[in-house]
Amino acid sequence: MKPLDDPLTILVIDDEKGIRDGAQRILSKMGFSVITARQGEEGLSVLAEKAVAIILLDLKMPGIDGMEVLARVNKQYPHVLVIVITGFATIETAIEAMKQGAYDFIPKPFEPDQLRIVVNRAKEKIRLETEAQRLEAEKQRTLADLGAEQSRIRTIIDSLPNGVLVTNADGMVVFINPALKLQLDLAPDSSPGLGIEQYISDKGLCKLILDISRGKHVDFEDIPQYEFSIGDQKYLLARARPVLGQRNQCLGAVVNVVDITAMKVLDRLKSEFVAKVSHELRSPLSTIHEQLALVLNDIIDQVSSTDRHLLSRAKEKTKGLISLIGDLLDLSRIEAGAVCQEIKPVQLEELLEKIIDFLSAQAKAKNQTLTLQKADQNLPPVKADPLTLESIFGNLITNAINYTGEGGRITVAIDLSGIHIRVQVIDNGFGIEERHLEKIFERFYRVKNEKTRYITGTGLGLPIVKGLVDSLGGFISVQSTPGQGSTFTVLLPANKQP
Ligand code: ADP
Repeated sequence: MKPLDDPLTILVIDDEKGIRDGAQRILSKMGFSVITARQGEEGLSVLAEKAVAIILLDLKMPGIDGMEVLARVNKQYPHVLVIVITGFATIETAIEAMKQGAYDFIPKPFEPDQLRIVVNRAKEKIRLETEAQRLEAEKQRTLADLGAEQSRIRTIIDSLPNGVLVTNADGMVVFINPALKLQLDLAPDSSPGLGIEQYISDKGLCKLILDISRGKHVDFEDIPQYEFSIGDQKYLLARARPVLGQRNQCLGAVVNVVDITAMKVLDRLKSEFVAKVSHELRSPLSTIHEQLALVLNDIIDQVSSTDRHLLSRAKEKTKGLISLIGDLLDLSRIEAGAVCQEIKPVQLEELLEKIIDFLSAQAKAKNQTLTLQKADQNLPPVKADPLTLESIFGNLITNAINYTGEGGRITVAIDLSGIHIRVQVIDNGFGIEERHLEKIFERFYRVKNEKTRYITGTGLGLPIVKGLVDSLGGFISVQSTPGQGSTFTVLLPANKQP
């Protein structure tokens, strides 16, 4: 089929000159391109050459008659609309022509308006058909694009090194990729369709995925990453997110699983290495420190002030190194899970009083007030090793003293918050900029600015505190405003007796 011209071409086949000329005049004015033919054969040869949209066809003509032309047009050019022109006497023939596939008819003689109406109707039909064809082509194209896109996404997901699992809103697994089957030690031919527990043995992760699938997590940022292991050789990290529909309803979850075994092994090796080196360094360093102290004591009057200064600096530096090594060893012990030696119920309020008493001299040296704000009610004890608790709050309060200026105020507040005992170490010191807040719990991270430049430290205090709080099943968080102060909040599980 030839594409139709714009404007549409109309072929008028009639042996009467008056009809041909009249039709040509009216239709040209309507914006059509008009070709006329005096006989059937002539009309058919025009059709072979031109993309004709509509034919006005006289039924009674010399040579091959209109019905024969109609039959040939229907066979060879089925998309062309044929309007037959009939005399009153041949109205039955017109009906017959319609049965044979003519689109419409117009009786002879006709008024210009009659012709306009019939032709406009045909034009509208052509417009609608063209539009329908365009939409159909577009639909096919979109379907093809969609198919290609789906296949592309499928290939991407199938070739990802990360495991991917998708559930529906009931927590049934609807998709798993080959990497996930490898990670979870599933058979290569295992297919989706069953409940999540049939694929993942870790109960905690199953519950998390079920909760997300059922839309229980409104705030996506709050969804925790989940670490789990397969046997004692493979460590995996899962991140899950809900899939939302158009009305924000939860349609299920997408779980992305990363194999972190290598990272874990490296981390362990690194910790072991650090612990070993620290251990080996501690004794000789302590000896050097003690000997420097002895030498300084013995020859204090015999050496120049420059030498004395040098020796004092060396002694200070070895002290700093010994404290760094102490922190590193503490951290290694926490990472190895060997921290809590003597677990017993501890009255935290009493312990905090002791720590504050011990550190008050440091605070006083900076003219700071250091106070304990006790709870309104009697607090249940915390089950922990007292040394662990001392380390946690000793570190936090020392930091508050160090990072608060002369005359500052430090308050340690304790109370009950649900099933937790909450301790807040509040200072009105230097504060911490937002961009550092997450990082200060990382090893060796120190905020360096004008205020903190001359404060010595290792950057290991907060990682130790976090490791210890984690080991007690608690949480630590920080809020801070630069120039106004910081609040470190620790939540520890309260040991409530039945
Ligand atoms: P260190 O104190 O040895 O540098 P930490 O791990 O205890 O190491 O703390 C990390 C960093 O966090 C510190 O260098 C300091 O910049 C910041 N920081 C910790 N506590 C406070 C606080 N109470 N106020 C302001 N900054 C703090």
